[in-house]
Amino acid sequence: MLYGYAGKVLRINLGDRTWKTEPLDPQVAKDFLGGRGFVSKTLYDEVKPGTDPLGPGNKLVMASGPLAGTFFPCTGKVEFGAKSPATGGYGDSNMGGHLAPEMKYAGYDAVIFEGIADGPCYVYIDDDVVQVRDASAYWGKGAIETERILKDELGEDFQIATIGPAGEKLVKYACISHDFGRQSGRTGVGCVMGSKKLKAIAVRGSHAVPLPDPEKALDLGKKMFDVCFSKPGFKEWTPFGTAGVTDWVNEVGSFPTKNFQTGYFERYKEINGKALRDKIHILDKGCFGCPIPCGKYSKAKVPQGEIHVEGPEYETIAMVGGDCLIGTIEEVAYANYIMDELGIDTISGGNTVAFALECFEKGIITEKDTGKDLAFGDLDSVVYLLEKIAKREGVGDILAEGVRDAAARFGQGSERFAIHVKGLELSGYEPRNAPAMMLAYMTADIGAHHNRAWAITYDIASGRESLEGKAEKTVELQHVRPLFDMMGACRFPWVEISFELGYYPEILSTITGQDYTWEHMLYLSERVWNMNRAFNILHIPGFGRGYDYPPARFYEEPIPSGPTKGGNIKKDQLESLLDRYYEIRGWDNNGIPTRERLEALGLPSVAADLEKAR
Ligand code: SF4
Repeated sequence: MLYGYAGKVLRINLGDRTWKTEPLDPQVAKDFLGGRGFVSKTLYDEVKPGTDPLGPGNKLVMASGPLAGTFFPCTGKVEFGAKSPATGGYGDSNMGGHLAPEMKYAGYDAVIFEGIADGPCYVYIDDDVVQVRDASAYWGKGAIETERILKDELGEDFQIATIGPAGEKLVKYACISHDFGRQSGRTGVGCVMGSKKLKAIAVRGSHAVPLPDPEKALDLGKKMFDVCFSKPGFKEWTPFGTAGVTDWVNEVGSFPTKNFQTGYFERYKEINGKALRDKIHILDKGCFGCPIPCGKYSKAKVPQGEIHVEGPEYETIAMVGGDCLIGTIEEVAYANYIMDELGIDTISGGNTVAFALECFEKGIITEKDTGKDLAFGDLDSVVYLLEKIAKREGVGDILAEGVRDAAARFGQGSERFAIHVKGLELSGYEPRNAPAMMLAYMTADIGAHHNRAWAITYDIASGRESLEGKAEKTVELQHVRPLFDMMGACRFPWVEISFELGYYPEILSTITGQDYTWEHMLYLSERVWNMNRAFNILHIPGFGRGYDYPPARFYEEPIPSGPTKGGNIKKDQLESLLDRYYEIRGWDNNGIPTRERLEALGLPSVAADLEKAR
């Protein structure tokens, strides 16, 4: 008996609308845990170099982890992954809600979507009834609108993931939506879903997750909830959720403002957690088994309309508020709603709109290109561009490719302020005066995303000018944080209310009946990190050190305002950080994992693949 797992993988070929199940390999479960680990292993083994991210050879993986759907706190996380249309390399994105538990209750640890359907479809899974159904009636509808329709048709007990018009139109940063406002936002997983003509996934299950000793698991689960309730952060963090960090990020001068021109937005108190709570908040909303519900369901009215939305989360506040200079929480919420219905990742969406606004301000693009006069701080400009992007109309067709490709089209020096790494737009932390955070963005396996190593607190605590210990901390966090995505758990209890990491080996061992130590879990995480690096090397022509640099704005332009005014990291410091980072990882000077390190990680076949590809 494979405890902690449903024990099966469901493989659906959308091309001929057939499906089959495979037993979950116990060794794969042991070595990769689940979630991001299953995504990484599946993509590495099954998606070959040269595969078009939007072609039939790419696979969309939806994977749960062993903790998902159990008695433990915050265990509702699902991982979507595919070869990324945004970067051309490894892509995954994590989402809360209730989908992963339901998938396990239906009997599947992972579902792999293959091929391309001959028309709009959705996948219906009700335990072992699996059908690929016609979705023509929903094509063109909003992501959240579609979820509502399917819930009405199928029943509230179905858990549903959808894409919006942006995914249908293959916007490179389209997201997958679930639970009326949770998203797998990053790396274009919604674009891959759209390329497969897969509008939605509906899942319902009625099985239990097998546990070696359910009584023991229940006792430990109750204790873990009590630990959460006993933390001082429990009462402080929950009322504001992620929006609560807005003040701190401004006060340390790292709030992305006006397309990352600076790190401080004067109007941050009008868009922070308190503004959200006081002005638009209706109720708190949590994922499966969550005692610290960070979701904030809101209602906002602006001249453009009245809306309900889950959020805004901090990342949306940063990328729409600061980065596009939208200075009221109601307006940020409205832009959030528009992106949620269109199915656009609010991080890349906000970042790309801010890039376009700067191009317009500098005269790189004009009203002739856009069809409208545009300005920072103007909600109409933001919404106009988002709708153009989702429809791929006019300049929106170029912006739908992301800032890297848009800058290549616009030229005139715009590459310097196209804020991305590896083709993925940066998330909500201005890193010019935060070396570990900068390095974390530079080296994240999916491109510039904060959740692999949210190192900025370490920068502040250890001194922002010094490079000492920054590479070490980045590597450490890059092994710790992705472990949550492998287990199928949310990391916020640890990050936000100081739930101790030391509990996780005991939880994992209790669920699986295997003996896990923290050291071994970190080793498993490092294996996945190296496999993903290898995936990028094999799939992206010329991949190496050159792909680990941030845009020139960060090392050439000092911060013009705010608490860190005048400072910025220099190019030679970036080189030192990268040198040290590669050394710690056991990679060569070009960022290629050495055979020695890969063998130490039990990955000799990956070393052979890299040697063959040279
Ligand atoms: Fe979901 Fe937030 Fe709870 Fe994490 S803390 S499980 S993201 S509601």
